[in-house]
Amino acid sequence: MISKQILSRPLSRSGINALNVALVIALIVLCHTTTASAGWQKEQQDIMGTRIIVEAYHDDDATAREAIAAVMDEMHRIDNAMSPFKPDSELSRVNREAADHPVRISKELFRLLQRSLDFSRLTDGAFDITFASAGFLYDYRAHIRPDEKALNEAVSHINYHNVHLDPESGTVFFAQPGVKIDLGGIAKGYAVDLGIALIQARGITNALVTAGGDSRVIGERWGRPWQIGIRDPRNRDGIVAKIPLENVAVSTSGDYERFFEEDNVRYHHIIDPKTGDSARELQSATLIGPNATTTDALSTSVFVLGVDRGLALVNRLGDIDAILVDSKGHLHYSSGLENLTAAKATR
Ligand code: AMP
Ligand code: MG
Repeated sequence: MISKQILSRPLSRSGINALNVALVIALIVLCHTTTASAGWQKEQQDIMGTRIIVEAYHDDDATAREAIAAVMDEMHRIDNAMSPFKPDSELSRVNREAADHPVRISKELFRLLQRSLDFSRLTDGAFDITFASAGFLYDYRAHIRPDEKALNEAVSHINYHNVHLDPESGTVFFAQPGVKIDLGGIAKGYAVDLGIALIQARGITNALVTAGGDSRVIGERWGRPWQIGIRDPRNRDGIVAKIPLENVAVSTSGDYERFFEEDNVRYHHIIDPKTGDSARELQSATLIGPNATTTDALSTSVFVLGVDRGLALVNRLGDIDAILVDSKGHLHYSSGLENLTAAKATR
């Protein structure tokens, strides 16, 4: 749950103190003042194309260290199975073959595809792993985007109904050629949840696992709630709010992660499945909820849905909260965070 004590801060772009600046990591920041100390262990590695950070406390340092190593191994395992960039991954095989014939897949991938389709239904198609049918035409680093003709052709294949899962045979089949899938909007959160489970299985009750913009915390840090800072989408070193958290997951989707600009238009990695173009109603969407698989999928979804439809969805769900930064840089909160409106007034 979200700690009742909300430590929002003035949203001035220059007024971030040096300590916080140093602690800003990727799009979500876990604020802390020290690294390893008695009982606390911390490690970071770049896996799944992102920065993985794991911190854990145990009276026995070796137990905490072993738990962190197990989490890192798990991240490598998920990456090897689900990366669209690795030709040998299970996901790549599905993309190569599933339009030709049903492909038998692992129970784990099957289940994650099921969950992805559940989120598509929940979000009225804003979350759609077949966005990749058009998504693969973009190369944000190389500033490459499809022309209108290629985009229109690719968009015709985006539709989560094109992904057929057969529980009997444990297979996935694409209803037409041209369909591609990508789990980039959910796999990091899923990996974070697996990481937390590995940590809890070792009797550890205070820990953090972060994979880029997706984090989950259990217990506390030094007897205080964990704190996350939400990055200012237009200022690398700024944060727009800090929130103390206990036993929750937090995910941020932002248009500043992978993008390029052309004629003052920002082309970035979160795609509106209806158009195949980047969604532009928000600069960032931060979701808080019980597990990181959910917050990861919903942060991507709410980013696509925008302020009104996004908050309507979040407020309907009950155990989920959201902090949105719209295209003008204004903050919006879900109804469960109304006590954050003080921060809104100061922006
Ligand atoms: P996140 O940072 O969690 O919002 O994830 C962004 C990633 O999700 C992108 O890099 C894509 O791999 C994937 N993605 C982009 N648009 C969508 C979408 N509409 N539905 C599902 N996944 C998406
Ligand atoms: Mg996401």
